[in-house]
Amino acid sequence: MKKAAFRNLRLCTKDCLCLYVCPTGATDTEDSIIDVSKCIGCGDCAAACPSGAISMLSTELPPQQKKAENVISYARKLTKNKADEEQIASAISGMVINDGMYRLMTALAKSARLVNEDIMRESGYMLPQSKNTKELLEDLLNDPPAAGFPVDAAKELLRLIKFNE
Ligand code: SF4
Ligand code: SF4
Repeated sequence: MKKAAFRNLRLCTKDCLCLYVCPTGATDTEDSIIDVSKCIGCGDCAAACPSGAISMLSTELPPQQKKAENVISYARKLTKNKADEEQIASAISGMVINDGMYRLMTALAKSARLVNEDIMRESGYMLPQSKNTKELLEDLLNDPPAAGFPVDAAKELLRLIKFNE
């Protein structure tokens, strides 16, 4: 399976060893993002990086595992509950003046969001290349959930992602 190097900018300490070892110049970019079109997947940069900032990732992923319909159905009900929880906790946090209650509600909203993201991944939105991710993006484009929804970014994702289902 073809691999390419990806740099985690939060871990990069700018030692620049990756620039010296890369045979194609893929790491030498002005925006610090490794140029995937030049990367041949040799892994030399990842081996040389002292900060563990470079990972070799597959550029193509297998189709997503199938989920039973009842699992998806229950997971979606759970996501709806968690989304309601988050909205209620956020609304309360905007009304309270007590600092302890504000922090409790903010933490509750955040925890509901994190759990929801996990359930969404488990219920079938795990891989960006999957059919349901494509359908989700198309639905969001057809009916944006909010005024500021980044329509252009969603269109660009649909154009760039190689959907494999
Ligand atoms: S070798 Fe690692 S730490 Fe150094 S510039 Fe490259 S990615 Fe950053
Ligand atoms: S994997 Fe090889 S070609 Fe790709 S960026 Fe790293 S050193 Fe360069």
